[in-house]
Amino acid sequence: MTAYSNTRDFALLQDQNDSLSTFRQEFYHPIINGREAIYFTGNSLGLQPRVTQDYVLAELEDWATYGVEGHFHGRNPWYSYQDILTNQLATLLGALPIEVVSMNSLTTNLHLLLVSFYRPTKERHKIICEYDAFPSDLYAVQSQASYHGYNPDEAVVYLKAREGEYLLRTEDIIAAIEREGKSLATVMLGAVNYYTGQFLDLEKISAAAHKVGATVGFNLAHATGNVMMKLHEWNVDYACFCSYKYLNAGPGGVSGIFVHERFADDKSIPRFAGWWGNDPETRFSIPRTFVPARGARSWQLSNAAVISMSALKASLDIFEDAGMDELRAKSEKLTGFLEFIIQDINREFKASTGVEPVKIITPSNPAERGCQLSLIMHSNGKKIHEKLTEKGVITDWREPDVIRAAPAPLYNSFMDVYEFGQFLKESIL
Ligand SMILES: *Cc1c(COP(=O)(O)O)cnc(C)c1O
Repeated sequence: MTAYSNTRDFALLQDQNDSLSTFRQEFYHPIINGREAIYFTGNSLGLQPRVTQDYVLAELEDWATYGVEGHFHGRNPWYSYQDILTNQLATLLGALPIEVVSMNSLTTNLHLLLVSFYRPTKERHKIICEYDAFPSDLYAVQSQASYHGYNPDEAVVYLKAREGEYLLRTEDIIAAIEREGKSLATVMLGAVNYYTGQFLDLEKISAAAHKVGATVGFNLAHATGNVMMKLHEWNVDYACFCSYKYLNAGPGGVSGIFVHERFADDKSIPRFAGWWGNDPETRFSIPRTFVPARGARSWQLSNAAVISMSALKASLDIFEDAGMDELRAKSEKLTGFLEFIIQDINREFKASTGVEPVKIITPSNPAERGCQLSLIMHSNGKKIHEKLTEKGVITDWREPDVIRAAPAPLYNSFMDVYEFGQFLKESIL
């Protein structure tokens, strides 16, 4: 447990002792008011690594040099480009390489996975998701229920926090799964909730879903590159992630999926098929009937989105260099420091005004959160967010009332967190 102190000297000392501090210079930081912004929105769009342009340019050059022959003669042949991402992605997810593939965009992948793992019958057609799930996830599960001929108002079961609470309790999630029992087809939740920053207990939820005979999947948009996961060991059935948030692969960056190894050779699972999911051995002999490749790769539809994947490769190389264990250790300290500073501000204001201006709704237990803290202001939340922006602090505002602040361990420093606290104090009205 670090003994924190809300001072510039403390922040400086932490940065000096931080073995990952040099990674900060490997990213472009937006400039506001003539200085580097305090960028706390890696949960929305990660910063651009300086090397990304080289990776992307390499593919553009090979395209210029080889034309179609780049599929086989490029430096990283495009035919198998998706495969060079697999091992690094598997490491980040706690997965086996056979369980992971990079493809498409996130919501597309969520639909493709639901096609395979939400196979409702009259008796068993419910889907559990969070009441405050990301809108795209809500639309996905609702439209999947409609697509199969069910009324989404009846088929989708929403998990709500208890009255007066913001977070979901594991025991309540499990109770809901048990209550639906035989009528439950699948559970699909955000692993780290985009609004509250809560990291759910994926292992316990998976076990509970399996116990009632349901499948279980997670949206890892806010989890990948942020928290430690062991998807294989935790027996998760399916998951999808995006690469443009904590993975820093650029706007609209390519997504990917996880499908547990136990389905690797299960040809009976229905899937919307495309040629890239066919066994690569026979792909070019143009078989008339789809023969799925082994594992997650069989869910691919199309040939690799090489330009987008090259930006992801740049980022994955940085993650490998830094090491996810080290990043997570720093992240816990960095977010702990942010939490400490906010509580310090609360103490100070409470002493003079009797009111704590900031409520942190994210769990305080580091095991139940990633790097993001979700803040609700006692009053004037939107104005405070605007003032922060004017001062060169980039956080984001989520309706109805949350400021999300996510210090990313790859490119944020303890000094960023300290200065954020100073700006926040000045912005509170
Ligand atoms: C960011 C995010 C999305 C965005 O979906 P796209 O298809 O990439 O636009 C969806 N769901 C969750 C939970 C997210 O955090």
